[in-house]
Amino acid sequence: MEFGESFYRDPYKKEIEAEVLSCNTVKKGFEVILSDTCFYPEGGGQPSDRGFLEYNGSKQKVIDVQRDKEERVVHLVGEEIPAGTLVHGVIDWDFRFSLMQNHTGEHIVSGLINRTYGYENVGFHMGDVLTIDLSGELSWEQAMEIERKANRVIWQDLPVEVFFPAEGSLDTLYYRSKKELTGQVRLINIEDTDSCACCGLHVLRTGEIGVIKLLSMIRYKGGVRIEMVCGDKALYDYEEKLTHVTDIKNLLSVKPNEVTGAVKRIMDESVEKSEKIAKLNEKYAHLRIESLVPKDGIIIDLEEDMNNIELRKFCDRLNKSGKAEVSVLLAPVDDEKKAFQYVMASESHDLKSLAGSLNKELNGRGGGSREMIQGTFFSTYDEISEAVFRIFR
Ligand SMILES: [Zn+2]
Repeated sequence: MEFGESFYRDPYKKEIEAEVLSCNTVKKGFEVILSDTCFYPEGGGQPSDRGFLEYNGSKQKVIDVQRDKEERVVHLVGEEIPAGTLVHGVIDWDFRFSLMQNHTGEHIVSGLINRTYGYENVGFHMGDVLTIDLSGELSWEQAMEIERKANRVIWQDLPVEVFFPAEGSLDTLYYRSKKELTGQVRLINIEDTDSCACCGLHVLRTGEIGVIKLLSMIRYKGGVRIEMVCGDKALYDYEEKLTHVTDIKNLLSVKPNEVTGAVKRIMDESVEKSEKIAKLNEKYAHLRIESLVPKDGIIIDLEEDMNNIELRKFCDRLNKSGKAEVSVLLAPVDDEKKAFQYVMASESHDLKSLAGSLNKELNGRGGGSREMIQGTFFSTYDEISEAVFRIFR
């Protein structure tokens, strides 16, 4: 790699005047090569720049930026820009600066971990959050200690140096490297923190990163994967989390540092309530079954407030009480009462073989075993009742 482009000479360059050297038609649009560019192509874990090219009063969005086989920077645009055209290129600076903050923050964290624990960064991805994969395991406490050290590096506002060591001197230098390098080596150096071969773009001084926050850590491929955010992304993350904590503390009328305790209390209360409801249901079922009177050996019971599982449990209990030959439990699906969930149980009839004719007659679906069937009838209560008595009598 030559490192000759404008974005390497000055990573803070936001605009450029350049000439279109070539413009080729491809499937997705047109690939434009410029005489010089401030658009960074995707590479080394860093996404490509966004922005636009302006010329002769028109403006083209730059959809993607990549390097071609000959290492030239190729800008993908939607319309043809003829060779020889002079263009004014502008990059999305907020997007780029955020990438520079996050990328430099990653160097600090990976470098400190490498120096403290000897682990390598074996995978790196920049998206909404930045992830780094390490070759060994850390505890969360160790990761938090690294985070504190990393933020101290920011407060020291150290220079982020870029240099190109002479080929012969490489063997005597200690530096991290993500893959075997060929050609010119570009080293990124932060005093007492990191030295790493890298072709990405970085801030000039560590103070520009603002803040580094590690978000989570999971075991991953024999090591760990850390999620982190730096700079503007850390600020947005803080804003978002503060909004959630504020909403929760307002809902619960507690102080921000009391939300965990308050939520836990509510969850405990909810478990207690569930247990109480289960006991009341038990009592209800007992009293209800006592009050039901069979007609021709059949009981049809309508229950408004039972879900699938409760309905099934109750039907089973009614059946086992021996009060009826056929126990039918119905629950309306909605307020219109034109459809009912059903559960039927019997010890003397083969319900499985009758399910087909019941469903056919009552516009229903469902099935089950010889002893118990369940499903939905899309019919009224009277229609269901009439059909059940006719079929089972
Ligand atoms: Zn880098």
